[in-house]
Amino acid sequence: MADRYFKTQGIVLRTYKLGEADKIAVIYTRDYGKLRAVVKGIRKPTSKFGAIVEPGALIDFYLYRTSGDLQKVIQAVSLDRFKDIKTDLDKLNETFAILETVDKGCEDQSSSEEIFNMLHNVLKWLDGCDKNVRLVFPSFCFKFLEAEGTGLIVDQCVFCNQNKELAAFEVREYGFSCGSCKKSRKISQTTISAVKQVLNGSLRSLLESDSNLDTKEFETLALEAMEFHLGAQIKSFKKSATLL
Ligand SMILES: [Zn+2]
Repeated sequence: MADRYFKTQGIVLRTYKLGEADKIAVIYTRDYGKLRAVVKGIRKPTSKFGAIVEPGALIDFYLYRTSGDLQKVIQAVSLDRFKDIKTDLDKLNETFAILETVDKGCEDQSSSEEIFNMLHNVLKWLDGCDKNVRLVFPSFCFKFLEAEGTGLIVDQCVFCNQNKELAAFEVREYGFSCGSCKKSRKISQTTISAVKQVLNGSLRSLLESDSNLDTKEFETLALEAMEFHLGAQIKSFKKSATLL
């Protein structure tokens, strides 16, 4: 039965209680995508897993495959706890919104190394960054939508398909409209070019720049696109941010 045991790296998306002493961890793993695993005894003070298996941690897991949907954690070794994130409220807010997005946006057992790498890289980035923290979650949303095959259309108007100056965000069309076609509210040119920058692969330059971007407009746009795509709210973001 040796093949019932398997190793993989994973990032904990969230945990929830099971019975008196156990928890279930929802994990995005490098090799098997999103899965759920029981962590026995984690809520006992003596548990060796208590300080390790927590949201946002990168862990080397040794798991036991059960016949059902739940796996079982046999061993968990912390690889990175991103400790700078934990001491910064803004970074924590971004992190919880990102974890919730991946949890809600990915089906159980849907496997994508691209998503794992995006998640790992964004946490590393957040841990080390010292500016533009509130641009990280919105930028992640735009990259996540792209990875899901529903990236925003930024090179032409979604209604007339012409390469005209874009003016408004059309959430249902996953893109922007020009001044003559626009149905929704106007978006500033700075925000539209920031979205383009993220999608054209110059994310790092945006995050490192001293931009005069309207953070709230950028956040609102990303959240609107993401929540429309998921058909659900990103609750951890709404709770924490000073939106609208
Ligand atoms: Zn148009």
